[in-house]
Amino acid sequence: MTRSVVVKIGTTSVTDARAGVAQEVLDSVAQDVVELRREGWAVVVVTSGAITAGWNEVGRGRPRPTDSITLQAVSAVGQPLLMDAWRRAFARHNVVVGQVLLAPLDFSHRGQYLHARSTLEALTALDVVAVVNENDAVADEEIRFGDNDRLAALVANLVTASHLVLLTDTSGLLTADPRLDPSATLIDVVVSIDSELERSAGPSRSGVGSGGMASKVAAARIATWSGVTTVIAAARESHPLVRALSDANDFGTTFEPRAERLSARKAWIAFAVASSGTLEINQGALDALERHGRSLLRVGVERRSGDFFEGDAVEIHGPHGEVIAKGLVRVGAEGFDAGDDVVVHRDDLVLLRRP
Ligand code: GLU
Repeated sequence: MTRSVVVKIGTTSVTDARAGVAQEVLDSVAQDVVELRREGWAVVVVTSGAITAGWNEVGRGRPRPTDSITLQAVSAVGQPLLMDAWRRAFARHNVVVGQVLLAPLDFSHRGQYLHARSTLEALTALDVVAVVNENDAVADEEIRFGDNDRLAALVANLVTASHLVLLTDTSGLLTADPRLDPSATLIDVVVSIDSELERSAGPSRSGVGSGGMASKVAAARIATWSGVTTVIAAARESHPLVRALSDANDFGTTFEPRAERLSARKAWIAFAVASSGTLEINQGALDALERHGRSLLRVGVERRSGDFFEGDAVEIHGPHGEVIAKGLVRVGAEGFDAGDDVVVHRDDLVLLRRP
């Protein structure tokens, strides 16, 4: 089986305060990508930095705007600058790059999702390195990813990658925030992500990147549930990608994939599709789902909310409001009380509480 990796580089690594795009970082990542390809890896790059590079071009030293319409317009200026820098980084190795801009809706519609997959596969077959970013200029602010960590995890799921590497401005996941606690140390390996780890990752502070550690851990959760080994590591080190993928586990933080990997389709249901409603179920139904792996029947649903249609995704809540599962409904909200007894078939259901 070919090994394949999605490597994401964050805004603070792709750009620097004075020069816009940090060409030397892109050069270094490109060199690693070329080396990995020589070893037989398939590689997809996810890049951030369009907005920062764009503001560097049009802002003339003014403070960065905060309104999303301007920022999205600015991304349209930065995106070609970014691609030009990636093109130059790979051209010295005679490798061609192709730009793929994705928005959340591309993941939500199954047909569109499969189409995006075919395009990425075709680029790989053409020996082209796909360079992906969010389609910032057009995506509706309400439904944008906003950070490329989640996008990268979904791309890893999309191309059924074996590895996801998130290159950033820290050495990995630390035991505490080093700005508050100087004794913080690097965590080498995370075997499973629990809610405490998610909480301790805290929010972003860099001001330009929009992800931060919390969004990286959330991305690692999506990826590891999809069976993808995930590494968070420092971008501005020598050979960051090659070292992140070495078996030695001595560079960055490695998140081991769950043994029970979700199929690509179930991971898509769990993490890519936005939910259009909620079903609150009773204890009997909860046991049937979690203990016996059954489908959800209408009798188990106590309350529902949302305007969902047949085939839409819904969140399934337990009797105490806890999120239990996500699934695709077989009946829309309108015909809910009259349709088939099976409301969410177990083939379309993903339990979210398993460690
Ligand atoms: N898509 C945004 C950009 O290229 C970056 C989002 C992020 O910081 O992850 O500027």
